[in-house]
Amino acid sequence: MRKILVFFIGILMTSLHAFAQAPKKPTSSEIYHSLQKLNFLGTALYIAAHPDDENTRLISYLSNNVKAKTAYLSLTRGDGGQNLIGPELRELLGVLRTQELLAARRVDGGEQFFTRANDFGYSKHPDETLTIWNKKDVLGDVVWVIRNLKPDVIINRFDHRTPGSTHGHHTSSAMLSVEAFDMANDENAYPEQLTSTTTWQPKRAFFNTSWWFYGSPENFEKADKSKMLNFDIGVYYPTKGLSNNEIASMASNQHLCQGFGRVTTRGSQNEYIELVKGSLPNDETNIFEGVNTTWSRVSGGKAVGEILYAIEKSFDFIDPAKHLPNLLLAYKKLQEVPDAHWRNLKSKELKDIIVAVSGLYLEASAQESSTYPGGTVKINVEVLNRSSAKIALKSLSILEDYEDGTNLNLEENKKINLELTLNVPENMSYTSPYWLAEKGSLGMYTVADKSLIGKPETPHAFMATFELDFEGFSITIEKPIVHRYSKPDKGELYQPFEILPQATTHLTDKVVIFADSKAKDIPVTIRAGASGLKGKISLEHPQDWQVTPAAIDFTIAEKGDQQTVIFTVVPPEKESEGTIAPVVSVGQKTYSQELIEIAYDHVPTQSVLLSSESKIVRLNIQKVGENIGYIVGAGDEVPESLEQIGYKVHTIDPNNIQPGTLAKYDAIVVGIRAYNVVDELKFKQRHLLDYVNEGGNLIVQYNTASRRGLGIDNLAPYPLKLSRDRVTEENSEVKILAKNHSMVNFPNPITEKDFDGWVQERGLYFPNEWGPEFTPILSMGDSGEAEKQGSLIVAPYGKGNYIYTGLSFFRELPAGVSGAYKIFANMLSIGKDKVENESDIKG
Ligand SMILES: [Zn+2]
Repeated sequence: MRKILVFFIGILMTSLHAFAQAPKKPTSSEIYHSLQKLNFLGTALYIAAHPDDENTRLISYLSNNVKAKTAYLSLTRGDGGQNLIGPELRELLGVLRTQELLAARRVDGGEQFFTRANDFGYSKHPDETLTIWNKKDVLGDVVWVIRNLKPDVIINRFDHRTPGSTHGHHTSSAMLSVEAFDMANDENAYPEQLTSTTTWQPKRAFFNTSWWFYGSPENFEKADKSKMLNFDIGVYYPTKGLSNNEIASMASNQHLCQGFGRVTTRGSQNEYIELVKGSLPNDETNIFEGVNTTWSRVSGGKAVGEILYAIEKSFDFIDPAKHLPNLLLAYKKLQEVPDAHWRNLKSKELKDIIVAVSGLYLEASAQESSTYPGGTVKINVEVLNRSSAKIALKSLSILEDYEDGTNLNLEENKKINLELTLNVPENMSYTSPYWLAEKGSLGMYTVADKSLIGKPETPHAFMATFELDFEGFSITIEKPIVHRYSKPDKGELYQPFEILPQATTHLTDKVVIFADSKAKDIPVTIRAGASGLKGKISLEHPQDWQVTPAAIDFTIAEKGDQQTVIFTVVPPEKESEGTIAPVVSVGQKTYSQELIEIAYDHVPTQSVLLSSESKIVRLNIQKVGENIGYIVGAGDEVPESLEQIGYKVHTIDPNNIQPGTLAKYDAIVVGIRAYNVVDELKFKQRHLLDYVNEGGNLIVQYNTASRRGLGIDNLAPYPLKLSRDRVTEENSEVKILAKNHSMVNFPNPITEKDFDGWVQERGLYFPNEWGPEFTPILSMGDSGEAEKQGSLIVAPYGKGNYIYTGLSFFRELPAGVSGAYKIFANMLSIGKDKVENESDIKG
C-alpha cells in the first residue's frame, strides 16, 4: 500500500441539516428496469425555460414506459422567483432550484441540463428576453446540449408561434429550440463546438400542448388535432407499484420552494403533443416511429443486443448475479462498437448493471465534510462483493498519481475496509456552483470553462477509481468521494465532500445606508475552514470613506468555529456609494469570499462561495416624523430598510387595531400583498381609514388583483381599481406628472435622476382606474407599450392622506437604491409641510 500520512484532525464540521444522499442500492426489479432501458436506443429531450415548467408526467412516461433516455433542458435555473421555504433569493434560489430539479429527475428517471441564461425576472415578450439574454450564446448552448445528447425527439413545453401570450422566457425557450433543431446538424453553426462533439439531426420536434393553451377544454375539444399525437400517460407500473402520474406528482413535489407540494394523482390521462418539425408518425402513440431504437441501430450493436435481449427475456429476479458472465460478455463486445457516443453511453449503463447484479458495494467516504487546497483528509473505503462471482480489486486510485498495486480477492460477503490519506493539491479549485464563480450580467452567467456548459452542477471534487477484475476481465468503476456520518435523531446521512477556503467572511447587512455623517460599527464574522487559523483581517473601502482600524489580528482554534470583529466606517459629507469588502490574510494567502450553506432535507446540502461584500450608501436625505407603524403582508424588508435611515418602525398586529390606537404613528405603511394574505385586515380597514381622516398618513404597497378581487370594498377612501399593469424594464423612462405636488418636493426634491439604478423592475399591479380625488404623480411604461400613470397615486382624505403605490420599494430599498429612499421619505412626510416648520425637519 501507499505510504499513509498521519495527520489528525479532531474536529468534525457537520451541518445542522443534511440530506440522506445515500447511494442507490437497486432491487432486482430496478435492475430489470435498467436492463430494459439499456436495450432501448432512443433519446428524448424536453425543453422549457424554468424549474417547474417541465411536464413530469411526460418525462416519467418517456423514461419509465417507453424506456427512452429522457432529459429536461431548463434554459434558466429560476433565480428570479420567490422562495416559500427559506431566505434564498436570486443566485442562491437558482442553486436551490437546480437541486430541486435534480431531485425531481431522480424520481422520474430523467436527466437535467441548463444553459447559461439567467432568470432575470418577468419578461413580457421574447424580443426583450432575447436582448437581455445573449441570444447567440443561449442558442449555442441549446445546440451544444443537442449535439452532445443526440436526441431523436425534442418536445417543447411552449409554443414558438405565440410571442407575447406568456412569459417571454417561455416563448423564447421554444423559439430557440426550433432554431437549434436545424442548426445542430449544420457544421457552419458554432463550429468551435465540433472539436469536442459532432453534429446531430433530431428526427422530429413537438409542442406539448393542452387545453390550457386554448383557453378552455371546450375550445381544445374543437381544435384541429390532425398534427397531434396523444397517448395515455396514466399507465401503471407493477414493478414499481406506482402509476406514471403518481411518479410525476412525486417528482414535481420536489419543487418545494415554489410550493408544489400536493397529493398524487392516478388513473387514465391523455397527453397531447403537436408536431412542429419533421414528419408525422402514422402511429399516434409512437413518437420514435421511424427511429431504430434497437441494438441494430449501431454498427457492431447486433451482437451486443443478442446477449442483452436474451438476458431481459429470461431475467432471474431471485438471483440476478446469474447473468454476470453474459453481461460481461456483452460489455466486451460493446467495447468493439466504433460509435463513441453509444459505446460510452451504454458502457456506463451496463457497468452499473454489472455492479448491481453482483451486489457489489463500493464506497469512498471522507472522514470530514470538507478540507482546503493543500489540506489532508482520511478516506474510508468499503469494498464488498455480495455474490459468488470471482471478483478482485486490482487497484484503487483517487488522484492520478495515486498508485496501488494491491490485488485483493473479494470473497463472497467478506467486507474489506481500507483507509487512505488524501493530500489535496494546492491548486485544487473550490467546490461551489461553477456558474457563480465569476460575475455574470443581468441575463447571463459567465462560465470560463466551456466544458462545464450545460452541466447541472459542479462535478464532484474527487472520484475514487476502482479497477476491478471480473472473472479475468477488467472493468473500471468510478464513485464520487462522499461524507458519510450519522446523527442519533436522523440515522445515517450522506453529504458531498467539498474543497472550501481556509477562511471565509460574512457581513450581516448586504446594504448599509448612512443617512447622516455619523460613523457606524460594521461587524465582520470570520469562519475557519482549518484548525489553528491565524491571520489578519482588513476592510477594503472607497477612498472617500474611512475605516478603522486598518487591520485586526485573529486566531481561531477549531475548524468550523467563527469569530466576529468590528470595524468603524465613517461616511463622507456628500452623497457617495461604493462597496466594503473584508480581506483575510493568512501567511502569503488572502481570502475574500463568503460561504453560504443551503441545507434542506429534500436536496443535498450545497456550499456556495460568493464575493464577500456590502454596498454602502451615503444619502443626503431629509425626513419628517419618525414613528412608523408597519402592517406586515407577504413579507418584505422595507421595515429594516427604514430603520437603517433612522425611522422607528413598530410592527402593528392587525388583531390589535382599535379606534384610537393608531394616532401615535406619523405614518402607517402596509406591507406587500397584505390584503391578499392577512384576512383580519378587511375588518380593520375602516379604522385605518378613520386614522387617515383624523390626520394620519396611510401608505399601501402593492396587492395583487385576483379575478375575485381582494374581498374588500374599501381598500381606499375613494374608488380605486387594481389591474395587472406592470413595468418590468427597470431602466424605463419615468416622467414626473405632478411637478408641484409636495410628494415630489418635500422634504426631498425628486427628479428623473432618482429613478437611476433601480433593480429588476419599476413596479407591478398598478391601479388603472381611480376617483378624481387621486393625483397620479408619475408616468412610466415598458418599451412599445402605453404609459401607465398608476404607479404612485395620492389623495387627501379628511385631515390626512392616502397613498397607493405599486412601485417595487420591496426590491429597491434592500438593494440600496438612493432615489427610492428619497421617494419613500417623501411619502412618509406628506402633509407635514403644512403643520410643521422648517426646524422640525430632521436631516
Ligand atoms: Zn416558467
